[in-house]
Amino acid sequence: MILDAKIPAGTLSEKWDNHRFSMKLVNPANKRKYRIIVVGSGLAGGSAAATLGELGYNVNCFCYQDSPRRAHSIAAQGGINGAKNYQNDGDSIHRLFYDTVKGGDFRSREANVYRLAQVSGNIIDQCVAQGVPFAREYGGLLANRSFGGAQVSRTFYARGQTGQQLLLGAYSSLSRQIASGQVKMHNRHEMLDLVVVNGHAKGIITRNLITGAIESWSADAVILATGGYGNAYFLSTNATGCNVTAAFRAYKRGAGFANPCYTQIHPTCIPVAGDHQSKLTLMSESLRNDGRVWVPKDPADCNKSPDRIPEEARDYYLERKYPSFGNLAPRDISSRSAKEACDNGLGVGPGGRGVYLDFSDAIDRFGESMIRERYGNLFQMYERITGENAYSRPMRIYPAIHYTMGGLWVDYNLMSTLPGCFVLGEANFSDHGANRLGASALMQGLSDGYFVIPYTVANYLAEEGAGAPDPDGPIFKEAIDQVRERVAGYLSSGGKRSSRSYHKELGHIMWEFAGMARNASGLQKAIGLIQDLKEDFSQNLAVPGKGEHLNAELERASRTEDFLDFGELLCRDALERDESCGGHFREEHQTAEGEALRDDENFSHAAVWEHNGQGKEPTRHKEDLHFENVKLAVRSYK
Ligand SMILES: Cc1cc2nc3c(=O)[nH]c(=O)nc-3n(C[C@H](O)[C@H](O)[C@H](O)COP(=O)(O)OP(=O)(O)OC[C@H]3O[C@@H](n4cnc5c(N)ncnc54)[C@H](O)[C@@H]3O)c2cc1C
Repeated sequence: MILDAKIPAGTLSEKWDNHRFSMKLVNPANKRKYRIIVVGSGLAGGSAAATLGELGYNVNCFCYQDSPRRAHSIAAQGGINGAKNYQNDGDSIHRLFYDTVKGGDFRSREANVYRLAQVSGNIIDQCVAQGVPFAREYGGLLANRSFGGAQVSRTFYARGQTGQQLLLGAYSSLSRQIASGQVKMHNRHEMLDLVVVNGHAKGIITRNLITGAIESWSADAVILATGGYGNAYFLSTNATGCNVTAAFRAYKRGAGFANPCYTQIHPTCIPVAGDHQSKLTLMSESLRNDGRVWVPKDPADCNKSPDRIPEEARDYYLERKYPSFGNLAPRDISSRSAKEACDNGLGVGPGGRGVYLDFSDAIDRFGESMIRERYGNLFQMYERITGENAYSRPMRIYPAIHYTMGGLWVDYNLMSTLPGCFVLGEANFSDHGANRLGASALMQGLSDGYFVIPYTVANYLAEEGAGAPDPDGPIFKEAIDQVRERVAGYLSSGGKRSSRSYHKELGHIMWEFAGMARNASGLQKAIGLIQDLKEDFSQNLAVPGKGEHLNAELERASRTEDFLDFGELLCRDALERDESCGGHFREEHQTAEGEALRDDENFSHAAVWEHNGQGKEPTRHKEDLHFENVKLAVRSYK
């Protein structure tokens, strides 16, 4: 596997401009000769499909929901970063770049991150033009708030519904293209395989989730924008449908998978309440602008009502440990601090797995109505789930799996190791290193979809020339037969255990051994347990119903099998990365104060896994990371 990042020459600030000029173009009249498949219609896929349609390409776009508007992106709450410096508080492209590289614990590619910061302003302009109702200041300018890991306010927001509003913007652009016939939208279609012809990605195999029809689609290029793999842990803040299938099957067809062990655990989620939950709920990081995190100093106070614990008996541990960033310390650091407090017996709520997020100071300062205006829907959601009123009693929060920084490896053009297969949004590994800063995922998805892929896909198409293969050709037929066989295999499994119970058990293993803290013996144990679970799955799975109609159990079985295989890869990657960095915390490597201890000499690289066939060990490749514009430093938020 060759890992050529194709980083353009020139100074950091000139690379993208130089590259755009040197890339080949497809002339407007020729664009209609090309077919492009976009899998995914969240912010990354929706923005890409709309833009490519507008440019004149023939686009087939797929999603498994009943509408692009239901993509998981709709759940994003807090906001989207953009280096506009409207606040005049010291922001700049370079500062956003620097914060992102540092926030990712120096495990991302400089050139990609700089480009992301460069186009961040364009994203805001584009969304405003679409009518996205960002919050505004009294003077009419767009308002900003702060997110973790930054000392400036650069986060644009629409209350606690930013993802929804951005998705409606992208969807309106997409709808225009659907109406004009330039984009053909295929809802309720799940991609189950990638088709590779002569070493290039040339199509996909889908299953129609309503009729069960298995079909092949061909194209000149395939774009995957299929989201993250957080649900490998079963319980996460992701929508329950989120899965790794598309990316993992592309991996099995030859696309390298980078840094699968980089998972993000978000510090502010509603704690687990019992064994019957199927998902967890995020309380947006934006709440940490005004909420103060604390636990009682004395374990004897943990069961007392919080209003009976006086100020001097509280430990505002983030403010104490990280005075410069305080409650807005980055997610990995805040999560570990919450775990540490609970491990020390200072946790609150059921099982002692919670810390307080307290708004009383902010309410005293600004009044309840201001807090309601800023976060009203989040407080309402919290009350619906917990039955508690967070205006009068602090929220209880605890870390949960939230986002995945790893993904399919892509070069600067967002192309995977399989030519013609491009990967956008959370599905790729490109910009966030070992830890993503808040409000940067929406920025990345829209940067990829609106501003990067239109150029880089054109370059590839112009070089290759038009000519999508026949979707009924022998290679497609073979791929379709393999998918049919796999589906039939689930339906005839004849065992007694539901796929959900396997998924749940996998989630327990992952959280226990590859969650917030990891160590070598735990990871080895996890790999063994997952292998046993896979064996059990192959013997005892039960899938009721048939394949010719809607069958949620069948969908789940196929996704679970991929999670099982992928979970093993994630643990293997975590085991091999014998250092701590960002969200990957190896207990063997920590400072005296319990902070992550990187090993730059041996691990300043992206680890990229190559599939060698079922049952064979994958190969680990390396893309060395070069830092010419930032100095590798110990990350400090003190
Ligand atoms: C609760 C929550 C709040 C968040 N808040 C923020 C925030 O405030 N700011 C921020 O920057 N980020 C936030 N994030 C992260 C951010 O929302 C996501 O990273 C981002 O929306 C992912 O967008 P995407 O387009 O890459 O993927 P998604 O939105 O997950 O879309 C994936 C698409 O792929 C399709 N798909 C997947 N697999 C298949 C398949 N096999 N076949 C066919 N289609 C398929 C799906 O149907 C869907 O259309 C939040 C995340 C969560 C969970």
